[in-house]
Amino acid sequence: MDFKKYITIVEDYPKEGIRFKDITTLMQDGQAYKAAINEMAEYARAKQADVVVGPEARGFVVGCPIAYALDAGFVPVRKPGKLPREVLKVDYGLEYGKDSLTIHRDSIKKGQRVLIADDLLATGGTIEATIKMVEELGGDVVGIAFMIELGYLDGRDRLDGYDVFSLMTYN
Ligand code: 5GP
Repeated sequence: MDFKKYITIVEDYPKEGIRFKDITTLMQDGQAYKAAINEMAEYARAKQADVVVGPEARGFVVGCPIAYALDAGFVPVRKPGKLPREVLKVDYGLEYGKDSLTIHRDSIKKGQRVLIADDLLATGGTIEATIKMVEELGGDVVGIAFMIELGYLDGRDRLDGYDVFSLMTYN
């Protein structure tokens, strides 16, 4: 399937100069959304992932259905103040800003095979922070799956040493 035709490019959002890749137009289409998730789930299955970890909010949109397809658990990574129990927190840099992420301390078991999923790889900061948290909790990051990779931001270089899959790449 030509997934790119379902993505809308929004100029100057959320800031001037950013060409935002809007995945909601893909999600709105039942067949395109399902086909996209199926391809990502196939990758996750090949990696024999036990659990899927996804950062809010669009990481839930891709990570939860992948976990469901695999009969695997899903672990949310969220902004500070959103998770109710004891968390591990890390700071990270975004394509357009700075922030922190948190994960429940008891969410990953030692040696679990973890698949990280998100909608888009830009600079790689979000996922780098997510990897750090998963590994600190004893998880083994067996793969990282994105719907979209922005090739020109070289986020993949930042994830050197990890297996990275992306459904679409924009160069
Ligand atoms: P990174 O940490 O790789 O620089 O940024 C990736 C994060 O920013 C992703 O979680 C993604 O949701 C968000 N993001 C950055 N640029 C875009 C974009 O053009 N489209 C979408 N959908 N998300 C973006």
